[in-house]
Amino acid sequence: MPSWKASAPVVGFDLDLTLLDARAGIRATLAALSGETGVAVDADLVVSRLGPPLETELAHWFPAADVPAIAARYRELSAVHAVPASVPMPDARAAVDAVRRLAGRVVVVTAKSTALARASLDRIGIAADAVEGALFARTKGAALLTHRVDVFVGDHVGDMIGAREGGALAVGVTTGPCSAGELRTAGADVVLARLGEFPPWLLGEAARRR
Ligand SMILES: [Mg+2]
Repeated sequence: MPSWKASAPVVGFDLDLTLLDARAGIRATLAALSGETGVAVDADLVVSRLGPPLETELAHWFPAADVPAIAARYRELSAVHAVPASVPMPDARAAVDAVRRLAGRVVVVTAKSTALARASLDRIGIAADAVEGALFARTKGAALLTHRVDVFVGDHVGDMIGAREGGALAVGVTTGPCSAGELRTAGADVVLARLGEFPPWLLGEAARRR
């Protein structure tokens, strides 16, 4: 087992349904968007498949030509409706604290815009050393390489693809839309049922790499 790339671990985390539960806020944002546009969006369906970029989701509901403008408006509404309703996923703070106890760095890599990601993290009281937004699947990998991330934790198959692309150990958590089997097929090295299992796993990994 190789040691960390630097003197202490660098751990990357996905945001939605890994560290952050924004589902209530996303529902409120979609309700506001539907009110403005007159287009009904099935919020239950949307929050059941979080992970890909916003534009990908909106393309299911709006004509392609309208998606950029609708996405921009969604982000404005999100700052008002979604960020204040943000709550941490269970044990999210404990997972980040576990990295800090090893003197490690925390990097959040998300499909959410960087501005909304920062605002959401502020709201839930989690401090990241770096936030890289508007990335998904393979493009997350580039950010992981830049930050020399050792371990990437996420709930979506796209996160596992990004981890492999970025040379990070891929840790899947089944707190999002993807099953353990789907995460493993996408390249997960480790699958945890919940983030509460992450601190003991990380301590064990640190011991193995010593
Ligand atoms: Mg996610």
